[in-house]
Amino acid sequence: MNKAIVSFSGGQDSTTCLFWALEHFDCVETIGFDYGQKNRVELQCRRRILGELEQSFPQWAKKYAGDLVIDVRSFGQIAQSALTGDGRSMNETGDNGLPASFVPGRNLMFLTYAAARAYIRGADTLVAGVGQTDFSGYPDCRRDTLDALEKALTLGMDHAFKIETPLMYRSKAQTWALAEEIGGKALVDFIVKNTHTCYEGDHEHWHDWGYGCGQCPACRLRAKGWEEYCQSNRP
Ligand code: ZN
Repeated sequence: MNKAIVSFSGGQDSTTCLFWALEHFDCVETIGFDYGQKNRVELQCRRRILGELEQSFPQWAKKYAGDLVIDVRSFGQIAQSALTGDGRSMNETGDNGLPASFVPGRNLMFLTYAAARAYIRGADTLVAGVGQTDFSGYPDCRRDTLDALEKALTLGMDHAFKIETPLMYRSKAQTWALAEEIGGKALVDFIVKNTHTCYEGDHEHWHDWGYGCGQCPACRLRAKGWEEYCQSNRP
């Protein structure tokens, strides 16, 4: 049986990756992280998405084998960023040219935990919704970083891991298109309605592309991708 563990935050990208994994693997588990993110709403959204999986998509729910949320708030205390409430605005850029939302080492840490979980659960594949196309400049989202990590995890645990990144070279518009390819309009609607991307934790203001403040970099990227996706689908 081929089995995958998806690093799942409840955002558009990792939710698309979850369904991609359910389409491509016999058995899929999810892993999530409480790193002290300011926006607790994303933890609620991920729970709701997993709760609705069975009802909305029974064909995939039978491959779904459970979730684990890990408390890594001690990491968040060290690796402070605008996402963990270090006082900076999300729109700021640091002296190193990276957005204030960059959490140093976050994806490396997530995937190392996911690998340890995969090792114990008999899985070889880790799936991450990272990409370098609509690139925020996060160096831990680049494929060459993940190639190096894949090698380090494989050597360090003596277990052949593969890190799958289905969104690596896709724009946000192409990510919406991938959701449509996997699950049609029903999946696109599900992702619009249930996922949370907004850096400001706004899950009250509704737009065509879902909930969010509409102003932060994550909302602007999501809105732009949605607009491009809709335009390319218009007859
Ligand atoms: Zn926002």
